[in-house]
Amino acid sequence: MDTRQSGRTDLETTHLKIPIGISSCLLGEKVRFDGGHKWNTYISKTLGQYFEFQTFCPELDIGLGIPRKPIRLSRKGSTQIRCVPVDKPQSDFTEVLLLSAERQSSWHRDLCGYILKKDSPSCGMERVKVWDDVMPVREGVGIYASRLMKNFPYLPVEEEGRLGDAVLRENFIQRVFVLHRWKRLLEQGLRLSNLLQFHARHKLIIMSHNQTRNRELGQLLASADKDDVTEIADRYLLKLMQTLKMPATSGNHVNVLQHIQGYLNKPLDKDDKLELSETIENYRLGLLPLIVPITLLNHFFRKHPDEYISNSWYMNPYPQEMSLQNHI
Ligand code: SF4
Repeated sequence: MDTRQSGRTDLETTHLKIPIGISSCLLGEKVRFDGGHKWNTYISKTLGQYFEFQTFCPELDIGLGIPRKPIRLSRKGSTQIRCVPVDKPQSDFTEVLLLSAERQSSWHRDLCGYILKKDSPSCGMERVKVWDDVMPVREGVGIYASRLMKNFPYLPVEEEGRLGDAVLRENFIQRVFVLHRWKRLLEQGLRLSNLLQFHARHKLIIMSHNQTRNRELGQLLASADKDDVTEIADRYLLKLMQTLKMPATSGNHVNVLQHIQGYLNKPLDKDDKLELSETIENYRLGLLPLIVPITLLNHFFRKHPDEYISNSWYMNPYPQEMSLQNHI
């Protein structure tokens, strides 16, 4: 059932699961132009355990029925890309699709992520076919998706096809959980002390994406005073989410793991140190997935607790049952 178009808000349940927007057809709603759907098992069964999906079909919202004539992106002149019916290119749905996205801003702003249907002239995030006289070129963005991403540039957005890639999947889900924690922080009241604590707890995650950006984010917070905390928070969030979108490299992970290892220098004996070093090295060589050194570190820190490390989200960024670090 289309949760947005039925007027359902799910305020009672969204605090239990993370609110995520999604193209309706990906959850099996028969809203495609041909009356079909594109149900995605992983999204529905696995991610559905943690996410509260808020479905929306922009083409239904603008009054196109089911079934309907297909639409596509079409180049007009040298710069303009418009959304038009395939069989009636003089009609134009571009403005109504943009308006549809604008009208959804009130619930979009509460989301922690959005999963879009690839290749759609309305929902596609990237590489949507743009037609000119003869040949299509994969360089377009769905009209609804483009306004969503423009209005909420910090929002984690991904396509269902790319979620099949372990690295992209982990990256998207990590960003969703970070934004979710950010929203919980705002609910508690925005204070400089909260911001600094948030940054400290995410520092190792940020370092795994980009060490320079981590320093810059720290400097941004250091330059804040109580009077401009809201403005600094907005800048921090945008820069943070842009940074996390950069792929975390295995080289950066090794640096972070070795940094964490440093906290165990005193308590570990020679054999344990050797085991840890070898495990990190085997991860660096691609012989082990990231979950292995993280699990070993968690094991040692259970015996030798450290407050900074136990508070760091790097050691536990999302529910382990999601098995995301088993494949990267
Ligand atoms: S891709 Fe978007 S517009 Fe097309 S059917 Fe799915 S939800 Fe509707």
